[in-house]
Amino acid sequence: MPPATLIALALAAALGWALLRLRKQYRAVQSLQQAIVRQQRLLRENLPGALGGAWDELCDATSDLIDETARLRELRAGHLAQLEATLGSLREAVLVIDGGNRVVLANQALQEIFPHTAHILGQRFEGALRGVAFLTCVEAVRRGAAEPQQEVEFGEGGQSTWVEVTGAPIPPLDGGKEAWALFVLHDITRQKKLEAMRREFVANVSHELRTPLSVIKGYVETLADGHREMPLEDRDKFLRTIARHTERLNSLLEDLLVLSRLESANPGLRREPVRLPGLLADVLDDYRARPAAVGHQLHAALDPDIAPLSADPLKITQVVENLLDNALKYTPAGTRIDVEARIHNGEAVVTVRDTGPGIPAADLPHIFERFYRVEKGRSREKGGTGLGLSIVKHIVQLHGGRTWVESTLGQGSAFHFSLPLSSPPGAALPPGKTTAD
Ligand code: ADP
Repeated sequence: MPPATLIALALAAALGWALLRLRKQYRAVQSLQQAIVRQQRLLRENLPGALGGAWDELCDATSDLIDETARLRELRAGHLAQLEATLGSLREAVLVIDGGNRVVLANQALQEIFPHTAHILGQRFEGALRGVAFLTCVEAVRRGAAEPQQEVEFGEGGQSTWVEVTGAPIPPLDGGKEAWALFVLHDITRQKKLEAMRREFVANVSHELRTPLSVIKGYVETLADGHREMPLEDRDKFLRTIARHTERLNSLLEDLLVLSRLESANPGLRREPVRLPGLLADVLDDYRARPAAVGHQLHAALDPDIAPLSADPLKITQVVENLLDNALKYTPAGTRIDVEARIHNGEAVVTVRDTGPGIPAADLPHIFERFYRVEKGRSREKGGTGLGLSIVKHIVQLHGGRTWVESTLGQGSAFHFSLPLSSPPGAALPPGKTTAD
């Protein structure tokens, strides 16, 4: 064989061997790539043919790396699950947002404050937690310039939610440049509402006390300065005015005391078996004899079959008296007032109905609120404190009942209250008695 042919054959053999090896190495690289992508350990025997020590070492090192990555991933998942379980059991709401304002973590307690945050994970927080104040707070926390604790208002469909927010910046766990922020939120809406109610109450009481006190002060000063030279008639008039305003102060303080007792932890309810029709008939008899009721027609329609119920007779008497006083106060003389008692849906329902001026529909939802009056001047002129219906509502509520009103302007009003009928054992009373004593 000529030498040139021999050389050509040798070159062809070398090329064939090199190509074979290259193909094996290419397949080995492919196997490695797949192992990394699938995160599956690569076994030496799965490498296509023997490739030599360096390949074996690469295969072992890659497999070890894959194992380590899997172990770290499991560890992280475990930690996250642990963190989520811990945060989930916290009563405080926790929120973590990343550098792009996306929610990374939010626990169950956050959902209880803001129910629409159920799918907030991965979303920008501003979409669900609306409020300029919180946005400012987030920016301040990231800059490390936030107050340690802030009260933040979130506006939701006209209703505000007040939250006490404690925030801290945390390093960005995604390797980004912008700091993350962690917040602990505590719902203080109830406290805020109570504070507002207390402020309103103090303002109302001060306002109610100011008028009679300034009248009394003015008249007393005038009397002190010149009672000797003052005509007897004027002196009497001044004294009568002082007495009237003192009486007003007295009624106001009495009503306030009653209300504060009713709202206290121990409202002093003395329950006993009470015959409602008898109690109402007694109150009406008492009223017929009063000068305030002269000129009014008081009628009663009392179902005698209402079984004795468990109630505080003095407090129920006060409820009926407050309703009757109002009917007499706001209804012109000569008109009719009806007191009814009947059984309805397992409850005893009492109604005081008048044919007076009625109450505008816009005022009806507020009529049982403290100090709410339809006509302020008229109520004060009639000696009203604005607390009578509030006392009625509290007493009835303490008995487990409800109060409501129906009214048509120019035709009259009907005030109703209900009392549960289920009477305790031993509630039966001898005929003719309204209460157990
Ligand atoms: P007040 O001491 O002013 O009577 P209440 O709490 O008893 O306070 O009643 C609140 C307001 O409801 C009254 O000021 C009055 O405007 C209105 N009101 C109550 N009862 C009647 C009624 N029978 N008819 C018309 N208005 C009434």
